[in-house]
Amino acid sequence: MIAYKSTLLNRTEVAEETMAFHFEKPRNFLFKAGQYIDLHLLGSEPDRSNGLTHTFSIASSPLAEDLVVTTRMRDTEFKRALSAMPIGTEVQIEGPMGSFALHNNTARPAVLLAGGIGIAPFLSILSHAAMEKLRHPIFLFYANRYFEDAAFMEALWKLGEANPRFRFVPTFTRLPKNYRGWKGETGHISPEMLSTHVGRLRGPIYYLAGPPAMVAGACRTLCEAGVDQDDIRTEEFAGY
Ligand SMILES: Cc1cc2nc3c(=O)[nH]c(=O)nc-3n(C[C@H](O)[C@H](O)[C@H](O)COP(=O)(O)OP(=O)(O)OC[C@H]3O[C@@H](n4cnc5c(N)ncnc54)[C@H](O)[C@@H]3O)c2cc1C
Repeated sequence: MIAYKSTLLNRTEVAEETMAFHFEKPRNFLFKAGQYIDLHLLGSEPDRSNGLTHTFSIASSPLAEDLVVTTRMRDTEFKRALSAMPIGTEVQIEGPMGSFALHNNTARPAVLLAGGIGIAPFLSILSHAAMEKLRHPIFLFYANRYFEDAAFMEALWKLGEANPRFRFVPTFTRLPKNYRGWKGETGHISPEMLSTHVGRLRGPIYYLAGPPAMVAGACRTLCEAGVDQDDIRTEEFAGY
């Protein structure tokens, strides 16, 4: 695996306690939308051996200038180091890795199921699909507990407006009924919710990303709804 040098360019808050980190995209670093990297924060020892590494899906499109990753800012050693890093700090990136990429057959719809920060690889896939005018019908079901937890909502609504083949379905699992006039979906992603928006559940390819418990739950839901396991692709954010 090749290790590339990069630098931190910017950090932005994208939801409550959730940050996006923009890194310089190393020259010759090519990846497919949906892939991930290992991000090494270099250590302070002379040989830098006391560095820290975490895995992150790339949230930006392969055609974008920066490499963006996004995460919930918990009080862990890695995230304390990441949030304290001055702009311009050098890091190492290893990758790209993974095969969580959109299928080629545009006749088969893609149904994306994101739990919380599991939105990261889908943001890359959707931005890329919009830029390249890919012809797949795409449905995104995006589950968060509250409005405040849902990152990149504005960008996702805009992608929905720009691409007639893309339907965006956010759902909130702990929102009281009619909260602030919300008329969209509430509750966990269920077979009924999927059928309402997708229609026939056998046919599409399903992509699931998020914490392992969410991915396992969504997988069970799909199998109970009769979806063939061969049509389900998953990216578990191990460590959540
Ligand atoms: C393919 C892949 C893609 C991923 N993409 C993303 C992504 O895009 N965004 C993202 O945020 N994450 C992603 N992850 C997960 C990421 O690599 C981290 O594991 C995650 O962000 C948690 O990091 P952390 O620093 O909060 O916890 P860590 O410090 O790494 O802790 C790991 C585990 O230990 C537990 N833990 C931590 N501290 C303690 C403690 N003191 N006592 C007991 N238990 C503790 C945590 O709850 C967690 O379960 C991805 C993982 C994989 C495998």
